[in-house]
Amino acid sequence: MDSNNAKLSILIVDDEPYNLKILNELLRSDYNIRVATNGERALEIAMSDNPPDLILLDVMMPGIDGYEVCRRLKLFANTQDIPVIFITAKTEEEDEVRGFEAGAVDYVIKPFRPIVVQVRVRTHVDLRIKTQLLQNQSLRDGLTGIANRRRFNDYIKTVWNCSIRDFSSLSLIILDIDHFKLFNDRYGHQEGDSCLIRVADCLKASIKRKIDLVARYGGEEFGCILPNTDLDGACEVAQNFQNEIFALQIPHIDSSTNGYVSISQGVATLIPSQESSPDELLRMADQALYKAKKSGRNRFCVYTN
Ligand code: GH3
Ligand code: MG
Ligand code: MG
Repeated sequence: MDSNNAKLSILIVDDEPYNLKILNELLRSDYNIRVATNGERALEIAMSDNPPDLILLDVMMPGIDGYEVCRRLKLFANTQDIPVIFITAKTEEEDEVRGFEAGAVDYVIKPFRPIVVQVRVRTHVDLRIKTQLLQNQSLRDGLTGIANRRRFNDYIKTVWNCSIRDFSSLSLIILDIDHFKLFNDRYGHQEGDSCLIRVADCLKASIKRKIDLVARYGGEEFGCILPNTDLDGACEVAQNFQNEIFALQIPHIDSSTNGYVSISQGVATLIPSQESSPDELLRMADQALYKAKKSGRNRFCVYTN
């Protein structure tokens, strides 16, 4: 789903052209319909950059059958949440059980009643959209709208494992607004909140690669995960953050640094391994942040042991 007015998309998989035609006619006024006449093609479409919001899946097909298609969809992170409804002539109880065991959300028996198919499709598409919305909200910070700490923790684990596989560097920046307590004391909590929003927006806008993640880590503390990035690259990002936040020119007359809101940052890089964990990288970045605070704030420091 791209936006509110974009039609949701349904993939219909059936080896029988007549069934495809009937289902297409039934649903095409409400949904964008794509079709596949075999399991291989269905998997290809589901795994593409533009996956469907729901799949209507026939069971008996030459090649990979519907059960197997469903089972494979459930194996991969980017396809496992697509709801699958079986539409099949297999009417035995054990067939139905097999369908649910493969991960289907519903099971419709042929010959089907058109209205039943329409209603069931709508129910599962609605559920899927609501679930996506909730998932999205649970991973976002309520004030700033950027990723929250939960998302940060999930993501660092995921990229940690990818980095082990690729033997690539993983960098982390932890940054903290300088003298933010004084900012709140001087300008009020509401101004403090607006400042956090502006800082979050600015950090997010400064990030260039899609795989980098900026999250609100705690009160006035942010974390930036940089997969496949060495120390030089991470320092470049940190320098950029430093410049961009300063360029906001948010007045902070009580700050000891320069009269504007500034940040201190800790930068750390390592090549992840099984023997270590994301906590180690966090500890390193925290230690570097501590050094940046101690040595005058409004700067970034690199972890050194
Ligand atoms: P330092 O330069 O050492 O980081 O000093 P600091 O004052 O920024 O650090 P300290 O940890 O003493 O204070 C953090 C302040 O951040 C205190 C708290 O009220 C404020 N803060 C945390 N979360 C929020 C928030 O959501 N909104 C607002 N307005 N303030 C917040
Ligand atoms: Mg602070
Ligand atoms: Mg702090």
